[in-house]
Amino acid sequence: MSYSKDFTVAICGGGLCGLACAVALSRAGISVTVFEASSFSQEAGAGVGLGPNAVRALKGLGIFDAILARSDQPEPIPRLFGFVSAKDPHDFIFSYETKCEDPVALAIYRPAFLDAVVELLDPSIIQFRKRCTSIDVSENGRHVMHFADSTTHETDLIIGADGVRSVARRFVIGELAKDPLIYPNTAAYRGLVPTEDLRRAGVQTELTGRPLCFVGLDKHMICFPIKGATVINIVVFLSDYDKPPQSELPYPWVESVSQKELKEHCKDWGHDPKIILDHLKNPSKWSIHALDPLQNYVRDKVVLVGDASHAMLPHLGAGAGQGFEDVFVLIQLLTHPRTEKSNLSDVLARYNDTLQLRSKLCIACMVSRFIMIQL
Ligand SMILES: Cc1cc2nc3c(=O)[nH]c(=O)nc-3n(C[C@H](O)[C@H](O)[C@H](O)COP(=O)(O)OP(=O)(O)OC[C@H]3O[C@@H](n4cnc5c(N)ncnc54)[C@H](O)[C@@H]3O)c2cc1C
Repeated sequence: MSYSKDFTVAICGGGLCGLACAVALSRAGISVTVFEASSFSQEAGAGVGLGPNAVRALKGLGIFDAILARSDQPEPIPRLFGFVSAKDPHDFIFSYETKCEDPVALAIYRPAFLDAVVELLDPSIIQFRKRCTSIDVSENGRHVMHFADSTTHETDLIIGADGVRSVARRFVIGELAKDPLIYPNTAAYRGLVPTEDLRRAGVQTELTGRPLCFVGLDKHMICFPIKGATVINIVVFLSDYDKPPQSELPYPWVESVSQKELKEHCKDWGHDPKIILDHLKNPSKWSIHALDPLQNYVRDKVVLVGDASHAMLPHLGAGAGQGFEDVFVLIQLLTHPRTEKSNLSDVLARYNDTLQLRSKLCIACMVSRFIMIQL
């Protein structure tokens, strides 16, 4: 088979960002293989909100239409959050005014997103149940991925799309550096509830329109419709802001918990959230980890995208969107007509510059907002 470039790419992790990379590279005629640790059967059946930046990046990558077709939403629409008191009588605390010219967004069932993208790929490109355990450099200067099943794979370029507990990040930051992974004392309880059940049980708040956030003290609940508004995606966040962030918790970070535990935490909430929690059978609890900003996103020819490089608390759901921005930038650079094996290091340095700049801009934005709030 002939390829458009004289280098090969391996992607570590076939999640949202890894698969988006794989589609764009294979469409550009670049030799690419995805190594995914799971068999996809463990993928959490939850919803994911794709904001305007995610929509723009996915359109730029040419995969938006396939995702829209699987989203049960006929077209992307403005999806600005409304904020409602969790206590009775659920007054609106803050409501963005929604105008039809607002940037559009989409909500999708996460496995449906993955199915839509996998369908765009030649099945021989993805290898499942391949957990990468380490990365090193061979004598001829290529990169070698080592897997838990004792096999190896040699390639010119590795894209680390292996999420928040990234093995590729370990290579990029160096074996001796302190991993920037932190536990900011926030847990998320997730589940899906049929819309009709909530209506019948007497929930008054309209849940099938814009995404809603029920606001409590150090806790809140996000609700948004998926699957043609027949199901409401629910995520309850509990945060302890008094404690400083801790280092990584023991794995696994996702566990099934009793409904009773969750209801106990939210017993001061009012009528509608209480009914919603009554219907949240078998919730899963996620200990949410995040990353302190990295100094570098590239080392040699190993490059990080998505949560591997900037996992964040999922308030207002922005993580995947920022990951698709990474993928868009990286793909523009790798598929550029002048990119070839001999100048890959320079090309990746431009990617590194872009992510560093974005990180500085994000910090500057946060500081200026903080100052404005104080004033
Ligand atoms: C509760 C919650 C709600 C969220 N809601 C939203 C939302 O609404 N909108 C939004 O934009 N973002 C949301 N996010 C964030 C979003 O889920 C992440 O930003 C996004 O999944 C990152 O995609 P990724 O491809 O980088 O990593 P992941 O989706 O984590 O994928 C990584 C993949 O790599 C595989 N892998 C891991 N280690 C290895 C290894 N060693 N070898 C091979 N494969 C490996 C994993 O199995 C996985 O398939 C939410 C996050 C949480 C926790």
